[in-house]
Amino acid sequence: METVFVEDVLHRFLLERAGVRGVLVRLGVAWRDIAGRADYPAPLRAMLGQSLAASALLTGNIKLDGSLSVELKSAGALRLLFTECTDQGRLRGLARWNDPLPEPLDLASLPAAVMAITIGQIERGQRYQGLVDLQHPDIASALENYFSQSEQLPAKILLAADGEHAVGLMLQKLPDEGGHDAVEDEDAWTRIQHLTATLGTEELLATAPEQLLYRLYHEESISLFEPRSLAFGCSCSRERVESMLRSLGRDEVEATLQARDGEIEVICEFCAQRYTFDRIDAEHLLSITHKAETPTTPQ
Ligand SMILES: [Zn+2]
Repeated sequence: METVFVEDVLHRFLLERAGVRGVLVRLGVAWRDIAGRADYPAPLRAMLGQSLAASALLTGNIKLDGSLSVELKSAGALRLLFTECTDQGRLRGLARWNDPLPEPLDLASLPAAVMAITIGQIERGQRYQGLVDLQHPDIASALENYFSQSEQLPAKILLAADGEHAVGLMLQKLPDEGGHDAVEDEDAWTRIQHLTATLGTEELLATAPEQLLYRLYHEESISLFEPRSLAFGCSCSRERVESMLRSLGRDEVEATLQARDGEIEVICEFCAQRYTFDRIDAEHLLSITHKAETPTTPQ
């Protein structure tokens, strides 16, 4: 019998008796779309997929208004890795690097690396940013540590990606409530972690979500919430490109027009959308800067 895989979906679930909540993300079409946009070396592609799955995973248990992004920068061969999931379940991501990349591609050994999680309405400046400690070999263990510390809730995170799928599983121990037997809760968390640890990367990548949850936790009382669908999507727009050009300043915009036969072309790295600006467009967008920068005098 052929299994029909559910592609690009986020499942939230509760292991009620154990007092554990969980999120499972499985990406197929969306991941292949993003992974296929550059000729990523396999270890970097795996890291990008893991980060993309994590971006979606981390939206599972929060009230998100805007987007959640995971951004990693370093002074080494891996220059940038960026993945994002919006409140509408739209995903995008990319990485920039120089060959050769170190092998293995270990987070803890990236020079001058910084990893940030940013949540909120980024354009409106309403955002929260947290820095992830990178003394860990991979994104899963770095995030596990981040969550255990920032939310004071023990967390277990698994992430995996190959050329076909990117998958993430996150479990969090819910805070002890009054009346519960603390020792029993601790045992339950240990039991759930052991069950989860039996899951190999291949099984995580190859198994459909409901099947996977059943296989792992069928002896726990598991409640599944309505799944949410995810998809590739880019939030670029002509307006955003205009404000990027404005931020470069008149001199640079004019120099580019000069060098490019009177036309500026900007191609979005996430989705390959093309934006072009001729001299008239450029003059128009620069004149907006001028107005905005003129101090307003009280009447
Ligand atoms: Zn775009």
